[in-house]
Amino acid sequence: LNELDDAEIDVIDPSLPPLLRGHPDIHLRSGVIKASRLAAQSEHNAEKAFFVADLGQVYRQHQRWKRFLPGIEPFYAVKCNPDPFVLRLLAALGAGFDCASSGEISQVLQIGGVDPSKIIFANPCKATSFIRNAAKSGVDMMTFDNGDELYKIARVHPKARLVIRILTDDSKSLCRLGLKFGAPLVTVPGLLRKAKELGLNVVGVSFHVGSGCYDSNAFSDAIMRARSAFDMGKEAGYDFTVLDVGGGFEDGNFETNASVLSSAIDRYFPVRESIRIIAEPGRFYVSKAFRLAANIIARRAPMGDCSDQRSDVDSSQPTVMYYINDGVYGAFNCILFDHQVVHPYVLSMGGSFHLPSPVILRASSVWGPTCDSIDCVCPVTQLPAQLSVGDWLAFENMGAYTICAASQFNGFEISSVIYTDGGGSGSAEVRRALGRG
Ligand code: PLP
Repeated sequence: LNELDDAEIDVIDPSLPPLLRGHPDIHLRSGVIKASRLAAQSEHNAEKAFFVADLGQVYRQHQRWKRFLPGIEPFYAVKCNPDPFVLRLLAALGAGFDCASSGEISQVLQIGGVDPSKIIFANPCKATSFIRNAAKSGVDMMTFDNGDELYKIARVHPKARLVIRILTDDSKSLCRLGLKFGAPLVTVPGLLRKAKELGLNVVGVSFHVGSGCYDSNAFSDAIMRARSAFDMGKEAGYDFTVLDVGGGFEDGNFETNASVLSSAIDRYFPVRESIRIIAEPGRFYVSKAFRLAANIIARRAPMGDCSDQRSDVDSSQPTVMYYINDGVYGAFNCILFDHQVVHPYVLSMGGSFHLPSPVILRASSVWGPTCDSIDCVCPVTQLPAQLSVGDWLAFENMGAYTICAASQFNGFEISSVIYTDGGGSGSAEVRRALGRG
């Protein structure tokens, strides 16, 4: 955990923006950013974009989960952000893991100390070799939603504990997963009959309301359908013991979703002593915990006086184009794949953290560093007219579905991560959980 040690921060000014508070290389004195270690490094390293991961925030989300959903065990969805420190922290806190591939299963087991029973292989359509690997690794719990999957499992992992993934209404979510996965309820009796015929052990039901779910009713509707699937299980001769309520939890409406979900569980599963309820949250745990700082590496602005305000120009249309050193082929792939809209804020300008007064805002656009014109981070945003090459922009909520899908297209490196315990509530617990006492 040397990285975490390195991440101890000399916080001089508590009013620093959170991102700077987490940066080990930046010490702020009298409002001037002094990039002490960076200055000693190469020019290339000094201008590299970087994430700051506040592990204290991950810890606090876990506390929030336990408080509002005490009866539901979180199995963190590794796909969302397989950061090794996030995984180690969550493992130490006793969370389980939702894995989608052999690679993710290996990564979790390599942490050490995670029992294979704390993993659900939650991909309903798996390669046969992956199912075989799961069997070898002792990972038994896995989802299915079709008959072919049952034949594969019967062949290579007949002792698996199967969870049938049912289709639920995902129309009120950012990323709809029902287009690809989930057995419609009408098909469930047939699938369960087939599973019985093959001598397979189906232990429960799972669903996913879609990632970034903004309508709590999706959870109650899904629980109602899960109840029907449990009843179908009984008719097929099974006694289900697992209810997996999937992911879809958001930071902003978590408490509301948790309350609607809990009430629905109370209503449809009033007797549940023998039922283990699990979930597969991803975004909820990491979205806010990661911020990204990117350097302005180039600018295209009208020649002449850049602060010139011509009256015949439509001020809502961008006149200045900023090019930063991360883009949609990197961390901002979330714009394309995860339907995110990102908003930059100014981290530093002219080497100073203090914005000039008054700030003249100008409609601007922000672009990634590649040679592709799809690489647009922000088509229109208001940024200070004085902003120029070498200044830094920052972006919040960059922890979910960002780094994990970043590419090195055009030879650009994936932005590295700097870790901090956040220094706030939970920081001591983070250190303890990671063995840094
Ligand atoms: N479980 C499964 C099977 C998923 O496919 C996903 C996301 O795609 C998740 C859990 C995590 O969802 P979220 O990040 O919305 O919580």
